[in-house]
Amino acid sequence: MSHSDPACIFCKIVEGKIPSRKVYEDDEILAFHDIHPWAPVHFLMIPKAHVPSLAHVSDDHAPLLGRMMTLAPRLALQEGCRPYPEGGHRVVVNTGAEGGQEVHHLHVHVMGGPRPWLKG
Ligand code: 5GP
Ligand code: ZN
Repeated sequence: MSHSDPACIFCKIVEGKIPSRKVYEDDEILAFHDIHPWAPVHFLMIPKAHVPSLAHVSDDHAPLLGRMMTLAPRLALQEGCRPYPEGGHRVVVNTGAEGGQEVHHLHVHVMGGPRPWLKG
């Protein structure tokens, strides 16, 4: 699996070729606001390396995925979601055509904030 796909929009965001509103960054993970938010808080967490979808992960990716899951509630609070249980947030990973995936670089949606939302 190549590290970066030159045709991939999220690889271009990682490389700074397409601008994004950053929420968090470390060596392996980038989080940025979704360009078309469905909820008052809506950001995406992605691995910096190009992984097409959740269907492509192996045991080697388990620490990365674990870190993304533990980051989600922390970043959700940072971005203005109210605490659990009154507040909280939704974590979604669309996978494949029938899973509703449009961008084929693994991404975790984190959504929250007061209802109603545009979708979901
Ligand atoms: P999917 O349907 O693949 O799970 O979600 C892809 C998400 O990426 C969509 O919510 C869409 O709004 C977001 N998105 C697509 N292109 C861009 C972009 O160039 N910048 C940002 N920030 N978000 C994008
Ligand atoms: Zn990519």
